[in-house]
Amino acid sequence: MNRSAIWHPFTQHALESPMKRIVSTDGAYLIDEDGYRILDAISSWWVITHGHRHPAIMEAIRAATEAYDQIIFAEFSHEPAERLAEGLVEIAPAGLKHVFYSDSGSTSVEVALKMALGYFHNRGEPRDRVVVMEHGYHGDTIGTMSTGERGVFNAAYEPLLFGVDRLPFPGAGDEQRTLDMFESFCRSGRVAALVIEPLVLGAGGMKIYDAGVLARLKEIAQRHGCLFIADEVMTGWGRTGTMFACEQANVTPDILCTSKGLTGGALPLAATLCTSDIFDAHLSTDRRKTFFHSSSYTANPIACAAAVANLKIWRSEPVLERIGNLETLHRQNLERFQGDERFSNIRQTGTIAALDLIVPSGGYLAEAGPRMRKLFRERGLLIRPLGNVVYLMPPYCVNADELGHAYDAIDEVASIVLGSAR
Ligand SMILES: *Cc1c(COP(=O)(O)O)cnc(C)c1O
Repeated sequence: MNRSAIWHPFTQHALESPMKRIVSTDGAYLIDEDGYRILDAISSWWVITHGHRHPAIMEAIRAATEAYDQIIFAEFSHEPAERLAEGLVEIAPAGLKHVFYSDSGSTSVEVALKMALGYFHNRGEPRDRVVVMEHGYHGDTIGTMSTGERGVFNAAYEPLLFGVDRLPFPGAGDEQRTLDMFESFCRSGRVAALVIEPLVLGAGGMKIYDAGVLARLKEIAQRHGCLFIADEVMTGWGRTGTMFACEQANVTPDILCTSKGLTGGALPLAATLCTSDIFDAHLSTDRRKTFFHSSSYTANPIACAAAVANLKIWRSEPVLERIGNLETLHRQNLERFQGDERFSNIRQTGTIAALDLIVPSGGYLAEAGPRMRKLFRERGLLIRPLGNVVYLMPPYCVNADELGHAYDAIDEVASIVLGSAR
């Protein structure tokens, strides 16, 4: 039994061999202790956007360390945080005017939930319900687990999770059911906020839905005075083809959460953006109306400097063009799987492509993911299927040959896994 001193996340140590050490990263690759280059086809869990160790971001980090470490942000401000806030307000959907910093996707969503409840509390019209979408994922803290899909991942913590109202996933043709249910939840007058991953439910299995649904959900929310929280932690920074996914529905959320690609994946940082209405509801000479939230590393100056450098890359390099090329490459590669009876639900949006391996149901389903992951690693690829959902979400620097290699491996690995199942 592998009694590792380091307890790795989402890892069953009894079933995994000791982990390989990564000694450096380079563009689309992780380099392990044996000098083996592994193509990071999932961007190290969706954080790396341009590629590992983009020179401008690394340089900005080095420069920032000449002046800063952590600075208490409840007492002082600093230039990297100010420049970043300015830049974020500029690129975010119009109407988002204020930026609250934290340090992970989960905390950015916790902050959003607290902002929403605080908004209604401070206005003296408290609301106590939160609406979410089935298959959603918003993080691993108690609050964000409460808003996410329930299952084996959080069964043990169930006694501590709060109740939420769940909308069915708006699959093609089923959209009206989702909208009607949202409308009926809102009619109670108790719904403080809808928390939703725009366009793609990531951890729930790369489930993609239509931008029109997002626009109509926003319209219903607005009509009932319910706040619209867009969890763009995964979808932000170009993942779905636009800077933020909400842009594709022409939606300005009341609150927007961003983290993963904020620093290009170099350092942990998160931001929760909100409208003036929400900020103003906390603005009062009454101290009880203060927004009571902080973490020790709020607005870490080095992380903020990395994010400022990331913004500069977006302004000075053809990032959207790269994303467009990647989208085309996905489409061309996915063509070979059309009509392939081993797969269903072949789909893509922006830099994300996914397909479901059709595996015999039952216990075998749970084993397909880990088996494929191991076979991918043997082929020099980091790909971690979500159950039977195989997806690619590479950094934007990946080239046609590298991506082709990943698709070849999917083809081969699917046959191996299905072959041994028969
Ligand atoms: C990853 C993710 C989170 C949680 O972010 P962490 O940085 O892991 O806490 C929240 N929401 C979405 C949509 C995510 O994909």
